[in-house]
Amino acid sequence: MKRGRVLVLLVGGVFCVALMSIYHMLELMQGTEPPCNRDTPEGKVVEDLTVIQQKIDRLEHLLSDNNRLVSMLRDSLFQHKQSQESGRGGTNNSNALRQAEPPPGCRLAEDLKDGDDGVQLLNVYDLLPFDNPDGGVWKQGFEITYRGDEWAEQPLELFLVPHSHNDPGWLKTFDRYYQDQTQHILNNMLVKLGEDSRRKMIWSEISFFSKWWSDIDEQKRAMVKRLVEAGQLELVTGGWVMADEANSHYYALLDQLMEGHQWLQTHLGVKPSSGWAVDPFGHSPSMTYLLKGAGLSNIVIQRVHYTVKKHFAQQRTLEFLWRQTWDSSSRSDITCHMMPFYSYDVPHTCGPNPAVCCQFDFHRLSGGRVFCPWKISPQPITEENVKERALLLLDQYRQKSRLFRSPVLLVTLGDDFRYVESNEWDAQFNNYQKLFDYFDQHPELHIKARFGTLADYFAALHRRLSATETSLPTVRGDFFTYADRDDHYWSGYFTSRPFYKRLDRTLESTLRAAEILFSLTLAEMRRFYGNNKLAPEFPAREHFLRLTTGRRSLALFQHHDAVTGTARDPVVIDYGTRLFHAILNLRQVLQSSAHWLLLMDKSQYHHDQSKPFLQMDDVISAQDALPQKTPLMLSDEPRLLILFNPTEQLRTSVISIVVDSPDAGVANAETGQPVAAQMSAVWLEPSKASTESFQLSFIAELPPLSLVAYHVTKVPAGSTPRARYVVHRHNDPPAVRSEHFQVSPLQGSTASSPLSLSNKHLQIWSSPETGLLQKLRLPSGLVRRVQVQFLWYGTRTGSNRDKSGAYLFLPGEEGAQLYSFTKPPLIRVTRGPVFSEITSCFQHFTHTVRLFHLNGHAGKSLEISNMVDIRSESNRELVMRLVSDVSSGNRFYTDLNGFQMQQRRTLDKLPLQANFYPMTSSAFLQDSRSRLTLLSAQSQAVASLRPGELEVVLDRRLQQDDNRGLGQGVTDNKLTASLYHLLLEEIRAQEVGGASVEHLSLLAHLSSLSLSHQPIVMVAGSASQLPNLRPFLPLSSSLPCDIHLLNLRTLEEPQEAGSPSQEVALLLHRKGFDCSAAPEPLPSCTWSVHEEVNLDDLLAPLPLRWIRRSGLTLLRDHDEPPAASQQQAPRIAQLRPMEISAFRVQLD
Ligand SMILES: [Zn+2]
Repeated sequence: MKRGRVLVLLVGGVFCVALMSIYHMLELMQGTEPPCNRDTPEGKVVEDLTVIQQKIDRLEHLLSDNNRLVSMLRDSLFQHKQSQESGRGGTNNSNALRQAEPPPGCRLAEDLKDGDDGVQLLNVYDLLPFDNPDGGVWKQGFEITYRGDEWAEQPLELFLVPHSHNDPGWLKTFDRYYQDQTQHILNNMLVKLGEDSRRKMIWSEISFFSKWWSDIDEQKRAMVKRLVEAGQLELVTGGWVMADEANSHYYALLDQLMEGHQWLQTHLGVKPSSGWAVDPFGHSPSMTYLLKGAGLSNIVIQRVHYTVKKHFAQQRTLEFLWRQTWDSSSRSDITCHMMPFYSYDVPHTCGPNPAVCCQFDFHRLSGGRVFCPWKISPQPITEENVKERALLLLDQYRQKSRLFRSPVLLVTLGDDFRYVESNEWDAQFNNYQKLFDYFDQHPELHIKARFGTLADYFAALHRRLSATETSLPTVRGDFFTYADRDDHYWSGYFTSRPFYKRLDRTLESTLRAAEILFSLTLAEMRRFYGNNKLAPEFPAREHFLRLTTGRRSLALFQHHDAVTGTARDPVVIDYGTRLFHAILNLRQVLQSSAHWLLLMDKSQYHHDQSKPFLQMDDVISAQDALPQKTPLMLSDEPRLLILFNPTEQLRTSVISIVVDSPDAGVANAETGQPVAAQMSAVWLEPSKASTESFQLSFIAELPPLSLVAYHVTKVPAGSTPRARYVVHRHNDPPAVRSEHFQVSPLQGSTASSPLSLSNKHLQIWSSPETGLLQKLRLPSGLVRRVQVQFLWYGTRTGSNRDKSGAYLFLPGEEGAQLYSFTKPPLIRVTRGPVFSEITSCFQHFTHTVRLFHLNGHAGKSLEISNMVDIRSESNRELVMRLVSDVSSGNRFYTDLNGFQMQQRRTLDKLPLQANFYPMTSSAFLQDSRSRLTLLSAQSQAVASLRPGELEVVLDRRLQQDDNRGLGQGVTDNKLTASLYHLLLEEIRAQEVGGASVEHLSLLAHLSSLSLSHQPIVMVAGSASQLPNLRPFLPLSSSLPCDIHLLNLRTLEEPQEAGSPSQEVALLLHRKGFDCSAAPEPLPSCTWSVHEEVNLDDLLAPLPLRWIRRSGLTLLRDHDEPPAASQQQAPRIAQLRPMEISAFRVQLD
């Protein structure tokens, strides 16, 4: 077939789709008259008007959909033209064309191949021997030499940066630290910096700073502003906390940064320019991406593997431009200073010799509580000793300076919770000033030394670099997994306290849903009442306060001792309580926003928190409890169920609720049409089904960001299909109690053949002994072995050997041991029309794999869930391992903060624990035929120790401290849930290259989105006693597949503290995606080949009054100039693949 004809066919095809969809929409409109209550003539008029309004709304949606189709058509034409020009395409039917041609967005995404310039950390890892030789005084380094004349031309320019590292919770709670230490540090700072304008200080944790600010009077606040203006006090990073960079998701990382930056803008009118991350246990480029986007240009990092530090020191690359792996431009670059030595304390910052540097920590002057472990104490600086002391210190400075390309030198002066007492300030500042004065009086020493901030340091550095035309090298990659000494790898904290790592993500998704729904509600209200008015009874201010508290609780938990699971037990409870209360509060925001939006007659809205109109379908009873579904009591009256889809995609979801009858059905409340449903048992014990509650699961079609209603009613017995069960235990058939469900045993030959489940997209086989997965088959015939195994790791034995703890993973030499059992697990196979699953009940965990019988792409992944309880164990860690025949070699891929993928290489030269990496939301293995992706709803440690294997650490119980200051083990384990999607995709062989940049496929992105942002289920009373409701459909169609609505966050009213403003932060993340696995069937969302996106069309029919691009933390001085703000449609914005774009928007 000629190309011309293909084109005609293609164009024709798209038109047909357009026409069919219009026809379909018209048909839908006719069938969806809302149920009317025609009691009074007045009511009738109102409702007729409402019906007309609804019809107009639908027409609007329809037109917008049509626009989308036209743009699709345009893209297809463009695409076809391109392929003709490049001589590609030209296959002989349109289906083949689609198969051969990657989706249009792919080309854009594939342009993001990494450059080969600069340093790739992966290659550094290949290169280094990791042999840990003794380096002398700088134990992990080498001897540094200098002649002495190196600074004759360009004197050494030293900036001594005083800091105090304040953990917002670790050994003490946030409040306790504030009471005991932090407030005194900040109070003294005001006095002591005020005494001498040469003194400086940096501060980073806005959580503490804002609390202190609310405690001080106006006079002191004015003093703070003066210090900031004079450059004596610099607010660095400006995040709510110094965030963990391994377990934290980029939503939360950005949110805590925004919370801090917004606070700084409102109260101090400053924007940070330097980042400071001296304590997070490893560093991620996702963080630098966000910092750069928030307007920072420089950062300091510290906890990097000692061997990597040494290598960077030898190469003099400790200062570099950190570039995103996927970025071929310098747009995302940030200047990074890596501290060379072991720690950020004084002994490890002045130079290579800690025994010398410790003598210059004047807080350790003899008689104090802290001393120098190297047994040489500091001396106060006097006229007699100043020369000798100054030269001793200068020698360290000079040695350290040799590790850098410029003669500008950064030395820090501080430690954890320093400068609490006023005499500590005097000791440090007065003694150093004497040394600096001595240097000033001796120009032959060629050093200019002074107190400085990071801004001072980096300004001088950039000045000197540009004067000498020195450029810094480019570095790509990340700094995981951190080791501080020997084989002490910090891979334990990737899993420690997994219960709270999961709760963190529950709060995150609840917060995002509440932010979006609240912002949409206020916009709808303003449109409805006009004149910027809100519903009189709607508690907008209270809800905004709840949102603010929720943001701050999530933000606090991103601290590097919080989400990491490395705080003391009472502190963990304090964090847990904050997360728990935040979730409860945000649920109130969701409930009353949904209430107002759904009401047909808005005058019926009233707010009564003691008797909410809507309630969640589950209850969380305590900070350490898992959610429990509340059984819905059914009568002859239908019960109303409200579903909120927090994603920007039309999705088909299976919703499960618990009801009090085995005969219940579900219907769409608007159309009255029953929907496909299944009744399943609620299992009280592995073989005992409840006789009082039953699980009702149904398939819901949920438009993007919509609120839709369903009716749940009692139905005649047998009208809703019931799940059928096979319950089995190898060689020991169990007695099963179930009145309402058909339960059969496995008999005869079937008892020894594999268990199998299938849907349209996938067939799986599981072991009849354990119920655990063995292989997968795709409809194409591709079969892959994927065995699920469970294993234990122990820790090292021997009384004087280091053992695993909250931070460290130090497994025993025997490695992982297969989970063994004396009694085989009880296996329950469920088969039904909505889902089928296999559950294996072991002593320490219950493991379930579930297939959904859904037609679209939602049916393509296998859901895996675990319920783990290892409280009976000691010094053990439980892992789930997938053993596949994917020939992945030693390469696998893990995500960084859910933002990007990073290639990993399992290296034999490293100990086992070094080959574990953080997995925030996904990991995959691939060969030339297929890719196996594990998407997860919580952060965990992941490894691929042998080709084809992928394992995640589920929980750890460790009896001892691992000597990193915590002073306790990890023994507060709980019943802990974990949830995954497993996706097997075929790869078009020719597309697989050795590129180190790989992305998730589009299908994996969509699957991950639905895994992390589950529909929110709310219940109301009986339908007949309720006012009339109508669904809320804010978007006429899904966003393009690769564009994620990261947030729609109402900003605070600048004129009225604590009140919501009309401005919202619109955050869009355009994902990079891989095209070697094409989604089949295609998802319902569209792509665009263009970076330019029409935002009016994208968000239609949401009316945007104006829109202005801004920095990622929405600081006003990062806004586009007013002239560039787009007042009129069409608002075209450039959205680049991989990038997050932030806009300040006013919704009409
Ligand atoms: Zn810390």
